[in-house]
Amino acid sequence: MTGPGFRVLYDERMIQGRLNALADDIARAMAPDLIAIAILKGSFIFAADLIRALHARGLSPHVDFMTLSSYGTATQSSGTVTLLRDAEIDVRGQQVLLLDDILDSGRTLAFASRHLADKGAATVKTCVLLDKYAAKGNALAKADFAAFACPDDFVVGYGMDYAHMYRELPFVAVLDQKGVRD
Ligand code: 5GP
Ligand code: MG
Repeated sequence: MTGPGFRVLYDERMIQGRLNALADDIARAMAPDLIAIAILKGSFIFAADLIRALHARGLSPHVDFMTLSSYGTATQSSGTVTLLRDAEIDVRGQQVLLLDDILDSGRTLAFASRHLADKGAATVKTCVLLDKYAAKGNALAKADFAAFACPDDFVVGYGMDYAHMYRELPFVAVLDQKGVRD
């Protein structure tokens, strides 16, 4: 492959192993008829794999998506979260499992949780592939479920991009920073 190199943090096998453990935890903690709402775009592959792992444990989640954007430079979010597209499923009185790729500052999950609570969700639990909380320790929201603790590096792959690239990679990797970070 040409272009920047990758340092793989989590390969396909590690990810599937952790998703199975996460699905076990979720199956124990939540009702089988939960609503899974994935935040686009970064969580689409994570969500696709996780909801199939939930199915394998007897859960039958309804699935929807919301599109959020936090504007900023390519590798730093600005802190302003905007709702680009809302979920369509009626969440009133329901148990919602909110899925996102990364918990970084926590602004995205705080915004989405508040939005769903305002729309009448009975409970909103958060679930992320990668949690940077341990690395940074100052998040505005917490993850009820997380597959991996993540170092405070810019990561790509498994749905996550840098300038629309690398979502298709089957692994999570730190991008070689030379000439990339702005
Ligand atoms: P927060 O709102 O928690 O600061 O940021 C979460 C969002 O920022 C994630 O949903 C993700 O889209 C993006 N983000 C945070 N860190 C990274 C990263 O290392 N790589 C990529 N590709 N996106 C990130
Ligand atoms: Mg995101």
